Order: sequence, then structure tokens, then C-alpha cells
Amino acid sequence: MHRRQFLGGLAATALVTVAGAQEAPRLSVQGAAVQGYPLFVSVSGSLEKPEAEWQGKTYRLIEGGGRWRAVLPIDIDCPTKATLKVAGLERSVPVKRRNYGMQYLSIHPSTLASYDDPQNKADDVAILAAIRGVDDVQLWKGNWLLPCEAPESTGFGQKRLYNGWKKGWHKGLDLAGWEGQAITAPAAGRVIHRARGIVNGNTLVLSHGLGVFSSYFHMSDFAVASGETIEQGQQIGSVGGTGGFAPHLHWETRCYGAPVFPKAFLQLPADWH
Ligand SMILES: [Zn+2]
Repeated sequence: MHRRQFLGGLAATALVTVAGAQEAPRLSVQGAAVQGYPLFVSVSGSLEKPEAEWQGKTYRLIEGGGRWRAVLPIDIDCPTKATLKVAGLERSVPVKRRNYGMQYLSIHPSTLASYDDPQNKADDVAILAAIRGVDDVQLWKGNWLLPCEAPESTGFGQKRLYNGWKKGWHKGLDLAGWEGQAITAPAAGRVIHRARGIVNGNTLVLSHGLGVFSSYFHMSDFAVASGETIEQGQQIGSVGGTGGFAPHLHWETRCYGAPVFPKAFLQLPADWH
């Protein structure tokens, strides 16, 4: 009895096994493709150390959750048509323009001069050196949280003109916390750099894995040591004005060293929680 149904079940099982053995690479591109945002790229299938080619650079993908993953930076002036190549697959990515605005700043000439101080440049070089070569698996779980419950005082990405002539741009976002207010880790990670910069002030850099980093400037003091593993929500320091500023937190997020819009991590694509 029911002999036909039984045979039908066997045939279906055999088909699934064959399909599973020859899994073709499948590329997934998630997140808002906007200038200055992170792009969430993953590829599944039987692959050997795949790489991504994106905006003239090559990135190594890292295995995690059954896929190879990378969070790629979309340059703030990325052309509106870009091409992503991963493991022999090619995807055209239409990138939306975003105007982050312009800020005209008038600051004391001695403060402006400190930006060009060789020590300030060395401070920035040390941050980038700490970031280079770190390629952990994804250390965070879930959407990120704001590191400090305070209103935003200067947005990410604003172009800046200091004293009418010196150009720059704001690579993080500023949160107008008060002196001594707790700064908490927005996501799990590891402290990879702790320094006292002459302009950046007391500085921490966290690695969150997959080439994603966050940094914190002008802190009044540190609550964690270099090399320490950090949980989401753990206090890492306090808001201050070190480096010669009114108290605030300058918060940056970077993908492989390139600054990206920090708030993009507060609402992650479904596969990236
Ligand atoms: Zn800032």
C-alpha cells in the first residue's frame, strides 16, 4: 500500500542531495547604496578565499555564518554608477547622491595650525596603522546603539571651510554630550588603539570585525584598556573636550579605513544583525 508515494519521496531526497553538492556562488548586496554609506556584501557557495573588487580597490572577504562577507565603504564622492565584482560575479550598483552640506568655520589661528602639526598627522597615521591588517570575523550581534545619548551637533560628511581658506570634511558625527557623560560601545568589539592625540584628544579605536571600526575622540578619560574585549553597551570612556574643544563626542565608523555614515549601523540589513 502507498507504494507509489513511498518511491516519490525517495526520488525527491536524491534530487536535493545532488543540488546541494554543486552550489553555484550567489552574491547578495544589501544596505542603502548611498554616497558615504557602508555596503553589505556576501557570497555563498563553494569558494576559496574570494575577493571583492570595488571602486578600484581589492578587499578580502571573511567567512562567517556560512558565507563570505565584507562591509565595503562607498566613497563620499563615489560615481552614481559603480561595479562590484566578487568571485567571478559582477553586479552593477546604482549609487544615490547625498549632499551632506557645507560648514563655514571660524577658528583661532593657533587651533587651525595644530591641524597641520606633525604630531596631529602622526596621531592620524597611528590610527590608520592600527586599523590596517585587522580582519576578525564579525564580532557584533544585532543593530548598533548610539554610543552616547545626546543630540547630534554636527553631522557626518559635512564639507568644511576653516577661516575662509582651509578645506576639510567631517569624517564622523558629533554628539553634544556633557563633560563626564558615559560613552558606551555601540556594538561588541575589541580595543585596538588607545592614545592621547593633540587635536583628537583622548582617543579609542574599536575593531568590530570584518574591517569595521569605530573611534571616539576628545574623551575626558578611558574606561577600558588596549586589547580588551568589549560587549555592546559597556562603558568605554567619558565625554570630554580634550584636544582643545568644548565637550562633545566625535564618533567615527570606518570600513577598511574609509569613513562611513555611523548611523547606517543602527538599522542593519536583515542578514547582518
Ligand atoms: Zn567631530
